[in-house]
Amino acid sequence: MQVPLLDLRAQYAPMKEEILAAVAEICDSQRFILGDKVETLEKELADYCQSGAAVGVSSGSDALLIALMAEKIRPGDEVITTPFTFFATVGAIVRAGAKPVFADIDPVTFNIDPAKIAEKITPKTRAIIPVHLFGQAADMDPIVKIAKEHNLFIIEDACQAIGAEYKGKRVGSFAQYGAFSFFPSKNLGCFGDGGAVSCDTAERAQLLKIYRNHGQSKTYIHEYVGGNFRIDALQSAILSIKLRSLDSWSAARQKNAAIYRELFAAAGLTDQITLPQLAAYDVRHIYNQFCIRVKDGKRDALKQYLLDNGVGCAVYYPLSLHLQECFKELGGKPGDYPESEKASAEIMALPVFGELSKDQLEYVVATIAKFFGK
Ligand SMILES: *Cc1c(COP(=O)(O)O)cnc(C)c1O
Repeated sequence: MQVPLLDLRAQYAPMKEEILAAVAEICDSQRFILGDKVETLEKELADYCQSGAAVGVSSGSDALLIALMAEKIRPGDEVITTPFTFFATVGAIVRAGAKPVFADIDPVTFNIDPAKIAEKITPKTRAIIPVHLFGQAADMDPIVKIAKEHNLFIIEDACQAIGAEYKGKRVGSFAQYGAFSFFPSKNLGCFGDGGAVSCDTAERAQLLKIYRNHGQSKTYIHEYVGGNFRIDALQSAILSIKLRSLDSWSAARQKNAAIYRELFAAAGLTDQITLPQLAAYDVRHIYNQFCIRVKDGKRDALKQYLLDNGVGCAVYYPLSLHLQECFKELGGKPGDYPESEKASAEIMALPVFGELSKDQLEYVVATIAKFFGK
């Protein structure tokens, strides 16, 4: 049996005609840049994310960057974030000219630990970027409290977590900004690159729209140095169609996660692996990834065994960001962020996308059981 880590073809099939018709309409109009398809998507996203507004941009990476630029982040400023995230979170801070400052993670959720943030605040701190990793919300209440106390702004990196909830409220709506990615492997993926920024006020949305268009407030009149951070009309039209099915896809992922929990419990593998744990606070986890921990240094061997037996799997992320070559100047050393380093040594993502069959889930668990001689 083959179980890919992700296969989007089954998701596409039932909406193929509708999407191709929308694409054809835009091709016939030959209007590709901004316009009503983008504006429609922005309204739908603000609604879905329970945020004041949303602005479509070129990618999740640029969503993070443009929010930092709109806040006039400058050299010398510090931005606190997690060392256990996709590279883009920290890359955006450096691209904006600021200094990333890491705070270690909570080993239960893999998300930034609010108590560790408090220790890292200095007079230079300007912002906090919590990441809702794998589709589970970070602990926002204490993070918002710290930000208010120190007059910091927050960008929620919700690139893996569209529709995820914290205490009944959608991510991207807790403070000033939320960054979303429509990279194809995210829960809401477009047909290439795309992203969005959610924000709390119409004024912020207006400023973001100026920044995404080279800081141009009127045609060829540049108020700021922004960039080309626009989302395409084609991607926006596709996303509007796909957004209508997002909740059913996230529900199918949750169902698969629940099936895994039953199968793993029945297989008696709890001494060898740890299943993804839910936070102590109330969450809606949307399972962009289903990440297990593999104990006793067996992660890489299990990964190879699964790949050899037709099960797709991947390590998100194998190297804590404070140890990356490109951030050497920040002076990070092994041992600085023990929970992040431990997670990067133990973690492994299993296939969880909605169209997997029960047989496939059973095969994944049976293959892992076989590896451990069960
Ligand atoms: C995917 C992702 C990004 C970047 O999004 P792109 O659209 O690929 O640029 C940023 N942060 C996190 C946590 C992500 O998973």
